[in-house]
Amino acid sequence: MVATLGETGCQHPRNGASPSAPAAASTRPPTREAQAAITPEQALEQLRAGNERFVSGRMLHRDLTAEVRASSAAQYPYAVVLSCLDSRQPIELVLDQGIGDIFSARVAGNVLDDNILGSMEFACKASGAKLIAVIGHSNCGAIKGAVDDVQLGHLTQLLARIKPAIERVPESVQPRTSRNLAFVDQVAEANVRLVMHQIRERSPILREMLEQGQIGLAGGMYDLSTGTVRFFGD
Ligand SMILES: [Zn+2]
Repeated sequence: MVATLGETGCQHPRNGASPSAPAAASTRPPTREAQAAITPEQALEQLRAGNERFVSGRMLHRDLTAEVRASSAAQYPYAVVLSCLDSRQPIELVLDQGIGDIFSARVAGNVLDDNILGSMEFACKASGAKLIAVIGHSNCGAIKGAVDDVQLGHLTQLLARIKPAIERVPESVQPRTSRNLAFVDQVAEANVRLVMHQIRERSPILREMLEQGQIGLAGGMYDLSTGTVRFFGD
């Protein structure tokens, strides 16, 4: 399994890269052909492999300037990822993805609304992405806010979108407060599964693509303390 799409796979140590190294030694954004060739399963494997590189400290050496140049005319990302606003979960970094590799939507609590759904439809139907990934995380402040029924300006309506996930966690899990981090993390995972369900329910375009196997849908939970993403299906 190649690590990323296109002319990639180079894992030479940073110190070993000479300034005059040939361009082929650098990572490249996906091409139209590479995007078309990848399957939804391979797309998920690419994200999984990227996170494994991140956790083990063996990220690909990237010439980001070269990636900017290579992607300036067009983009062919292979996945769209919805994740949280949280500063500790910069999704391209923790999945070791470069410029042009993935579409990235970030909003507190990785909640779904029509703007995010429209973005996913653009990513998959118009731009050819093969995978939708929804990635929540441990110790999430938005989840805690929903659990504690925080009221604050426009945040109130955002947190309301998370509340149905609280009901999805069995009543046997107690106490149901933000101080119980195990409960908070169960709500966060339930919220990811809820968003996955909503994507299928609310977008006929994406549902049809999923049913026909043109795209895949994956959930994930990022552990703030280890840097690991645990992926799961719906
Ligand atoms: Zn969060």
